[in-house]
Amino acid sequence: MTIPGPGPRIDLHVHSTASDGTLSPAELVRAAAREGLDVIALTDHDTLAGWDEAFAACPPGLTVVGGLELSCVHAAAGQPPISVHLLGYLVDPRHLGLAAELGRLKAERSRRGERIVEKLVTAGYPISWDRVLEFADGGSVGRPHVGRALIEAGVVESVDDAFVDLLSATGPFYVRKADIDAVAGVQLIAAAGGVSVFAHPAAGRRGRVVDEAAISVLAEAGMAGIEVDHPDHLRADRERLRGLAADLHLLSTGSSDFHGANKVNRLGQHTTEASAYEELVSRACGSRPYVG
Ligand code: AMP
Ligand code: FE
Ligand code: FE
Ligand code: ZN
Repeated sequence: MTIPGPGPRIDLHVHSTASDGTLSPAELVRAAAREGLDVIALTDHDTLAGWDEAFAACPPGLTVVGGLELSCVHAAAGQPPISVHLLGYLVDPRHLGLAAELGRLKAERSRRGERIVEKLVTAGYPISWDRVLEFADGGSVGRPHVGRALIEAGVVESVDDAFVDLLSATGPFYVRKADIDAVAGVQLIAAAGGVSVFAHPAAGRRGRVVDEAAISVLAEAGMAGIEVDHPDHLRADRERLRGLAADLHLLSTGSSDFHGANKVNRLGQHTTEASAYEELVSRACGSRPYVG
């Protein structure tokens, strides 16, 4: 009798310095190999800029899936908009429509980051936009970079502390980004040959989350799956989402949302079943996983 060994370890959501992670893409793939992971997806916020470095440094035995985490918004009539993060895997990096939207989002992140800093400076916090840009180092600017400046200025001890009020979406210094509508996001990722998965749909700690009807609308628009196992999900959320995925014929994924030192999440903290991963890959036609 053969006792089945553990399956491959697949982490489909990790960030590098191309957005708000603290490991460079090359450091990240080396760390993933050291952790014994078999597959990681590089999903930086609104950018594909880390892909080439990750592929070039990919150690033998590791597979890197090129991806992104697209900043979207769900707007229901008469309700404040809700932020939705869509993971897009295996898009064609040369797709012009996607490149144009990523260019717009990058500029929007920069404008909005500067406005958050202005509000904080006006309130007396001793940080500067130039310093935040240095922390972002040419990548997609995000609130964690403002958090790093607040740590350096001695205002908070960690990025997590900064998110308690100063960077919170419900706090006085928050500024919205003009993100793409979530259905349009699913369609854009599909147009670029990729497959989309709803990131951390029940991460209520970050702000309001969408209801099941909205997830169902995205499923009808062609979204392939939902991230069920995620560090920001309570056990009860995970069980509910697993049931929802089954009801809506969506794939269930699991991942760490690793950000290096900007978050406590560990690489491989949650993982995706090989069958769900293979199905995602089979549905994408924009690019192929890079096998090291
Ligand atoms: P932004 O993309 O600028 O809106 O910033 C959101 C980013 O901040 C997300 O990528 C999260 O990873 C990160 N983030 C959100 N909430 C927290 C938190 N409580 N602690 C640390 N990072 C957070
Ligand atoms: Fe992030
Ligand atoms: Fe996210
Ligand atoms: Zn993420």
